[in-house]
Amino acid sequence: MGLAVVSQADLGLLNTFGISEHAERLVAVESDGQLRDALALARQHDWPVTLLGGGSNMVLAGPVPGLTVAMRSRGRRVLERSADSVLIEAEAGENWHQLVGWTLDHGFHGLENLSLIPGTLGAAPVQNIGAYGVELCEVFDSLEALDRGSGQLCRLDRSACRFAYRDSLFKQQPGRFVILRVRLRLGTCPQPRLDYAPLAAAWQATGLRRPDSRVISELVCRIRRSKLPDPVQLGNAGSFFKNPLLPAGQARALLLRWPAMPHYPQADGSIKLAAGWLIEQAGWKGHCQGRVGVHREQALVLVNYGGARGAEVMTLARAIQQDVAEKFGVELEMEPQLIGG
Ligand SMILES: Cc1cc2nc3c(=O)[nH]c(=O)nc-3n(C[C@H](O)[C@H](O)[C@H](O)COP(=O)(O)OP(=O)(O)OC[C@H]3O[C@@H](n4cnc5c(N)ncnc54)[C@H](O)[C@@H]3O)c2cc1C
Repeated sequence: MGLAVVSQADLGLLNTFGISEHAERLVAVESDGQLRDALALARQHDWPVTLLGGGSNMVLAGPVPGLTVAMRSRGRRVLERSADSVLIEAEAGENWHQLVGWTLDHGFHGLENLSLIPGTLGAAPVQNIGAYGVELCEVFDSLEALDRGSGQLCRLDRSACRFAYRDSLFKQQPGRFVILRVRLRLGTCPQPRLDYAPLAAAWQATGLRRPDSRVISELVCRIRRSKLPDPVQLGNAGSFFKNPLLPAGQARALLLRWPAMPHYPQADGSIKLAAGWLIEQAGWKGHCQGRVGVHREQALVLVNYGGARGAEVMTLARAIQQDVAEKFGVELEMEPQLIGG
C-alpha cells in the first residue's frame, strides 16, 4: 500500500508539551488516498486511530495504542473572488501560522488576530481556535471531512460544525470525522478588530492611521511572544483551561466577594471569567511540582520543565481544578485533549 508505518515511534518532538510517549504505530499521510489506506489498515487489524496535527493541543497521558495518523497534506488555493471577499481552501496538514502569512501576502484580511497560533489548519475547527477577540468560526465557510462512521466524504457548513467557545461538533463527537480541507471566507479590504485592549494600545502606539492587517499581525505576534512561553524552549500546550462561562447570578455572587474579578458578559446572558485570574488568586502562579509547573508569568499555562510525563501534568491540573472549585465554586474545564494512557 506504500504506507510507511513506524512502530513504537517516540512522539516527544511531535507534541508541544514535549511529552515523550510512544505511539504503538505512527504513519504520516499526505493525501486523501493515503488517509483511506491508513484507515483501512487500522480497520483490518482493529486498531484504534488517533489523529495528530501539530500536537499543540494535547496531553499525552501514556502510550498511544493502535495507529496514530499524522495529518501532513499540503496545498492552498483561491476558489472564488468577489468585490469584497475571497473564498480560499487549504489542506488539513497546512501549518496554521504559515497559512495566515500566505493570506496576508495575497492581501486577504481576517486572520491577522489569529497569527502565531501553533498547529495545523485541520485541527483549527476542532476547538474553534480564537485569540485577541476573533474566533475561527467568524471567517469559516465550510470543510470537507471523512465521516469514519459511514466512510463517506461530507461537506459541513458553519452551522453543521456547531461552533462555540473552544468547542465544536468535532469535540462533541470525537473520532468520528477526519477533517481533510477547510474553506475560509476572507475580506479584500482591512477590517481591523481591535477590541482586545493591549492590541488596541499597541496599534495606537504605531501612530498609523490607515488600517494595516500585516502590522496588526506583527503586533499580535509581538504580544504573544511577550506573554506565552515558546514551546521550543519550554514545553506547553497554550492555555490549559477554558475560561469558565457562568450563569449571571453565580457570577454576580462572586463579584460581590471579589469586585476586581475580570468578567465578560456574553450575548446569551452568561458571564465569562478569566481562568488565569482564578488560578493566580488561588496562589498557583509560578508553582513548581517536580518536573511540571504553572508558568511564572501566565497562570493559565502549565509547563514541562523537562522530562515530565503526562500523568504529572494531569496531577497538577487536577489539584488546580480542585482548589479553584473549593475557593470559587467554579469548575475549570481542560482545553487540550487527553490522548493515550
Ligand atoms: C504556545 C501555544 C499557544 C496557543 N494559543 C492558542 C490560542 O491563542 N488560541 C487557541 O484557540 N488555541 C491555542 N493553542 C492551542 C493549539 O495551538 C490549537 O488548538 C491548534 O488548533 C491545535 O492544532 P494542532 O494541529 O496542534 O492539533 P493537535 O494537538 O495535533 O490535535 C488537537 C485535536 O484535534 C484532533 N485533530 C487534529 N487534526 C485533525 C483533523 N485533520 N481532523 C480531525 N481531528 C483532528 C486531534 O486528534 C486532537 O484531538 C495554543 C497552543 C500553544 C502550544
